[in-house]
Amino acid sequence: MADSRSPTPEPSAKRPRTSSNVVVERPPPTARQQARQDAGDRAQAEAKEAVRAAAIGGGGCTAHALVNLAVFKDVRTAKRKLNARIDQVHRKRVKETGNEEYPHELVGIEDDVWCHEVVKLGVTKAGFHFKKVRLDDDGGIDLGGEKWTLARVLEEGCSSEVGGFLLDGVLNKVWYYDGKRMENDGEDPTDPVSNEAAWRHAVAVVDGEIREQLGQAFPLRCLWLGRGNQPDTRRGYMRKLLKVYHVTRCLAPAGSKCTGECYSE
Ligand SMILES: [Zn+2]
Repeated sequence: MADSRSPTPEPSAKRPRTSSNVVVERPPPTARQQARQDAGDRAQAEAKEAVRAAAIGGGGCTAHALVNLAVFKDVRTAKRKLNARIDQVHRKRVKETGNEEYPHELVGIEDDVWCHEVVKLGVTKAGFHFKKVRLDDDGGIDLGGEKWTLARVLEEGCSSEVGGFLLDGVLNKVWYYDGKRMENDGEDPTDPVSNEAAWRHAVAVVDGEIREQLGQAFPLRCLWLGRGNQPDTRRGYMRKLLKVYHVTRCLAPAGSKCTGECYSE
């Protein structure tokens, strides 16, 4: 069918001209180019790792937790309010560090993760306080001269009228609820030991209960908190606790410019 061929197109200026029809292959990268590429990949991987480390939770769970803490009315609003603070905090970081190229994702990734400062700002603007619970090395929390364990603080230190706690850490895969074996994310083939970043999780504690997405609630004993205020890794609902925040409603009169810590708790 040689005759039906379309007319030979005019040679394009962009087409590489070779003396034969041999396909021109791109030359392999030089050692220096390859090294630069590798360094770029490494930097990108490290940046992603840093994002996860600096952020609270993962996969939007912080938004769900803040709804369970009654800070926001629904998840959509929570995400929108948190997303809206990313640029503001990013501008601040650029100014502080003098680095015009400060990675945006270190501050937050829309609908997914937000750094501590973004969450604090969003929570404060919603009329709440956001305060880190300081865990001492000797496994206690100093409450005006008296040492309380985290378990006791969580049990007694929250009420739905005032607020509750935001637990940030690593979700466990297998956990135990009164002798019953439970499994989180049964469809995820990975596990929190080998793939900790994917199992980062934030959850609310209100009225002595772990409050999860979709209205699920479990008693605090499912955390199996023990030595060093950390969960028993073989039984706990969470495998690891990284940070705990006390989230309480601001009681200052309306109109006062609360920065998140306007009265002593
Ligand atoms: Zn306040």
